[in-house]
Amino acid sequence: MEPFRYLRAEDERHALAASKGATYIAGGTTLVDLMRLGVMRPRALVDISGLGLAAIDADDGGVRIGAMARNTDVAVHPVIAASYPVLSEALLSGASPQLRNMATTGGNVLQRTRCAYFRDPAARCNKRDPGAGCGAIGGHARMHAVLGVSDRCIATHPSDMCVALVALDAVVRTRAPSGAERAIAFADFHLEPGAHPEVENVLAPGELITHVELPKTAFSARSHYLKVRDRASYAFALVSAAVALHVDGGVIRECRVGLGGVATKPWRSAPAEAGLVGKSPSVAVFRAAAEAAMKDATAQPDNAFKIELAKRTLVRALVELTERA
Ligand code: SF4
Repeated sequence: MEPFRYLRAEDERHALAASKGATYIAGGTTLVDLMRLGVMRPRALVDISGLGLAAIDADDGGVRIGAMARNTDVAVHPVIAASYPVLSEALLSGASPQLRNMATTGGNVLQRTRCAYFRDPAARCNKRDPGAGCGAIGGHARMHAVLGVSDRCIATHPSDMCVALVALDAVVRTRAPSGAERAIAFADFHLEPGAHPEVENVLAPGELITHVELPKTAFSARSHYLKVRDRASYAFALVSAAVALHVDGGVIRECRVGLGGVATKPWRSAPAEAGLVGKSPSVAVFRAAAEAAMKDATAQPDNAFKIELAKRTLVRALVELTERA
């Protein structure tokens, strides 16, 4: 075990003041794992679990979720279950009940990849050790991404919750050590790896996620999450789809399509959405949208199966959603 300093922050101001050179910890369900593996070696931890940011407040404009709200509490919140079902379903499909009871909303947004090479300090990994190379490219890549990849990194973003949030037009609220606040559209929060896989999101050093907001939209109540995985529980997605539709007069007026398990960040598919809007729901329309969603996919030999699986998963998610309504 590497030595590190630990500070339990009393309030937001205290946490921000102590953030220089430190890593925030809340539920610890990702960070403690990675510290034990020797993948993350923070010199100081600032515990933010006592900041009083766990409330979930709903009003006519939407829902404001505190960054410290536990995944279970978000999933079973009556307004979220009724008006944003894709989020409840995504959360309940992830991890185990014990982990959902510990994991926080902010921590889930910042979840690190499950790439086996990243989690093994003896393996080559550009994300963990910039410039070291990528063990997964040309290696074992069955779980890896086919969208948003680069020649430096093909790791998938592992979160189910984030795929739902990108389909709900969520907004991440932050506060910087200077006190400045920011509102970041969820689709802009995570970054594709490009030449710098080690940079995973747009947060500045010390910037703290305080809330995630869900706007009220015409499509959020009619939404669904479908996850395909190797076993029925406690497994990361091979492929997942978060879909939301606003259908009026038999025509899709507005929609959102998020994809998980296939991309380097929570993936919102503009081509799929463009293929759905203005059409009457049908399997043929859904299949054409799915083809558009995956047309730019780039696979390794191990994970080429994900391209067709993603198309079928998206079609099935849309069929289930339209049959449900
Ligand atoms: Fe590292 Fe990304 Fe390559 Fe995995 S895919 S070994 S995380 S650089």
